[in-house]
Amino acid sequence: MTVNREIDDILQRGADGGRITPEEALLIYTDAPLHEMGEAADAVRRRRYPDGIVTYLIDRNINYTNVCVTACKFCAFFRAPKHKEGWSHPMEEILRRCGEAVDLGATQVMLQGGHHPDYGTSYYENLFSSVKAAYPQLAIHSIGPSEILHMAKVDGISIEDAILRIKAAGLDSIAGAGAEMLPERPRKAIAPLKESGARWLEVMETAHGHGIESTATMMMGTGETHAERVEHIAMIRDVQDRTGGFRAFIPWTYQPENNHLKGRTQATTLEYLRFIAMSRLFLHNVDHLQASWLTTGKEVGQLSLHMGVDDLGSIMLEENVISSAGAKHRSNLHDLIWMIRSAGRIPAQRDTLYRHLAVHHTPADDPTDDRVTSHFSSIAIPGGGVGRSLPLVDAH
Ligand code: SF4
Repeated sequence: MTVNREIDDILQRGADGGRITPEEALLIYTDAPLHEMGEAADAVRRRRYPDGIVTYLIDRNINYTNVCVTACKFCAFFRAPKHKEGWSHPMEEILRRCGEAVDLGATQVMLQGGHHPDYGTSYYENLFSSVKAAYPQLAIHSIGPSEILHMAKVDGISIEDAILRIKAAGLDSIAGAGAEMLPERPRKAIAPLKESGARWLEVMETAHGHGIESTATMMMGTGETHAERVEHIAMIRDVQDRTGGFRAFIPWTYQPENNHLKGRTQATTLEYLRFIAMSRLFLHNVDHLQASWLTTGKEVGQLSLHMGVDDLGSIMLEENVISSAGAKHRSNLHDLIWMIRSAGRIPAQRDTLYRHLAVHHTPADDPTDDRVTSHFSSIAIPGGGVGRSLPLVDAH
């Protein structure tokens, strides 16, 4: 079989919802014509979502502490324990931010933070139960396997016990955070103190087994090879074969400012778009594919809607972690809806479980709240977004 014929066959099988091997995924990632791969990936989207709807979410990423013992080389957000710029938010501040988010129509909070040496399971139980008690309407889609391993280690308990306790406290869904690159070589190179990719997946599998679903992410552009990118999604697909617990896959691109890697490598726009399309074809067992407008920009986010993407993720009322590393893209509700509609799709607000809350069939259906903008209060922006001064407490 000629290479062209082989590529055509792989694209057709992927478009039809069949399973392609990692070797075949690598071949199309590197060699398939972009438009043909995009068309095949978009065929998957059309088959899965024939209503033409592309979703978005209103949520807020609230960081409870930037103190972290893990010191990932790509991270611009964390400060080591005892660093003078370390901070932790008191619970009142976290709840105040949740309240603001609810007022702006958020349906979800993503509570994320560093691996604070003092934060064991009881800290997270208190965090989640307090948020749930004050705002039961907010879905808590938060933390990641790294935080679960950290709290289990602090307390000397099993990951299963930690998961059961934070689930009982109110955690609804686990964010796909901390996946970075799952294969061993690139993971060790950028996050030598983080758990292995296999451990990250083990936590997810355990959580899925106890009825907590999650998403999965990938950070691309820190020097990993094409084959390692494919290996990353193959590791996710293997777990998904057993659990079905990953609702979505969300690749994003490494941001180079203020961190130890200093942008020596970065994924190009074309690599990102090709990866998006290949992922849609490869992850036949994952329902949703989300584009990252925050790291790639709105134009690339919109282009990805023609490469199999069915979700543009969150408006991100607040985001500090990736923005600290230089992600400068900003958005608002009007922009997100425009990106979707002008790509020929129907915008809809969704919740954490991808249920449609409001479908904007025509501009007359569009929400009109101008306050709903990204980064409306973010400490990654000098002056705190739109000028709010945020009370921080010393971490020590
Ligand atoms: S990415 Fe997370 S675990 Fe790694 S240093 Fe930053 S805050 Fe810590």
